[in-house]
Amino acid sequence: MHDFEAVIGVEVHAELETQSKMFCSCQVLDVTRAEPNTAVCPVCTGMPGVLPVVNRLAVEYALRVALALQCQVAPVSVFARKNYFYPDLPKGYQISQYEYPLARHGRLLILTTTGERAIGIRRVHLEEDTGKLTHVNQEGQTYSLVDLNRAGIPLLEIVTEPDLQTAEEVRAYAVALRSVLRYLGVNSGDMQKGVLRIEPNISVRRQGSQEFGTRVEIKNLNSFRALERSVAYEIQRQIETLQNGGRIIQETLGWDEGRGVTVTQRVKEQEDDYRYFPEPDLPPLTIEPVWIEQIRQGMPELPVAKYQRFQQQYGLGPYDAEVLTAEKEVADYFEQVLAAAPQASPKVVANWITGELFGLLNQAGQDIATVQISPQALGELIQLVVRAEINQNSAKLVLEEMFTSGEPAARIVVARNLTQISDPDQIADLVSQVLRDNPTQVEAYLGGKEPVLKWLFGRVMQAARGRANPQVIQGELERQLAEMKQG
Ligand code: ADP
Ligand code: MG
Ligand code: ZN
Repeated sequence: MHDFEAVIGVEVHAELETQSKMFCSCQVLDVTRAEPNTAVCPVCTGMPGVLPVVNRLAVEYALRVALALQCQVAPVSVFARKNYFYPDLPKGYQISQYEYPLARHGRLLILTTTGERAIGIRRVHLEEDTGKLTHVNQEGQTYSLVDLNRAGIPLLEIVTEPDLQTAEEVRAYAVALRSVLRYLGVNSGDMQKGVLRIEPNISVRRQGSQEFGTRVEIKNLNSFRALERSVAYEIQRQIETLQNGGRIIQETLGWDEGRGVTVTQRVKEQEDDYRYFPEPDLPPLTIEPVWIEQIRQGMPELPVAKYQRFQQQYGLGPYDAEVLTAEKEVADYFEQVLAAAPQASPKVVANWITGELFGLLNQAGQDIATVQISPQALGELIQLVVRAEINQNSAKLVLEEMFTSGEPAARIVVARNLTQISDPDQIADLVSQVLRDNPTQVEAYLGGKEPVLKWLFGRVMQAARGRANPQVIQGELERQLAEMKQG
């Protein structure tokens, strides 16, 4: 088992969520919801005598990704025809880039439990999506339906070097890339809907060997979980096959989620011959350096940079920094709360967001984009805690109410009478009352049973209906008990 290692490269297809398609003005729709064949025209249905025109915004989106992946952008790239027959491809060819892709030689930093690692990006190129087939099997009749709404949607292909070695790394790569695409606003990252499709190529070889083994490719993975599980399964399967004297065949596999196994979809006897040739209807794609510079200027701070800055600037640990920067909306929210709660430490603010707020969001099946609590409102709540106007327990109740009602914290605190009791005399009275009412426990504590202190603390807090300042209770309890011990 230990003398084998896996070699993995990942191909990603990401739809570019522009208004219109790659080569015509048809709308880019959510193809999982729209009425089939409603966003089509002679260009994207492959009628003769029409000409494609490149969508400038799609190129700009592609360039954003290329720059984010630190690629070298080609001053001139070339569209080519990839010829094959399939019912979802009305032209009989897909316009893609082949010999001269838009960008090459990039890298993406991934974060795994063993640290950070740069994964090489081999190429980034533009193409168009195909239509969508639905296979129907009804009362013994089988047929397929064709929806061309997806045909011609701009598609970006991003291909790594075979740099990845484990299922965990493949997942980390997919997570990092999705995060970049979402930060750049070019793709929603919805794997269920198929707008982001991640296809790992996997082979294994003897440790130390220089040659690559035969690879398989897994398609139709619609979650990170399926991606990670299928890669882990496939590595194991290939190693066992080789150990048992078998051989790996080059094929395209699918993933059976229920059984947890990969299944053959298509065996590749030899390399497909797509008869690529330059697209005669489109001129070479020329990218002016000034345009690249403009796009570079407009780039947002990317997830990895933010992740590093959050650790340096705010003293957060890698876990908090990762959770807070995975989504741009969350990172922005965090920084806005921090600005609204100047007396709170970044760690305290991070805990409120990743602990309490995320908990409520999860329960409600919501995300930060739709939350009723503005960053300013959460900041105000945290300020009340920091200034000891309410205690942590009350604050959690207030947050829950803010979450459902959208009311500001201060109003809830007044309405529910949650103002913290910090008055030492008032708390001293509560403490002596509790000590008087529980002589057995006091006895036990004085006799050396330290943990009883916690129980007594709970009693006092209860007597204060949860509103007392915990530090004051603790101090007062210790003081009165010490007095009893002496007296
Ligand atoms: P194709 O275009 O035919 O799918 P590529 O050469 O572009 O093939 O490779 C696709 C992906 O597969 C790339 O990410 C590449 O790094 C990876 N890859 C190539 N050979 C192997 C191999 N033997 N084992 C694992 N991954 C591989
Ligand atoms: Mg391939
Ligand atoms: Zn069209």
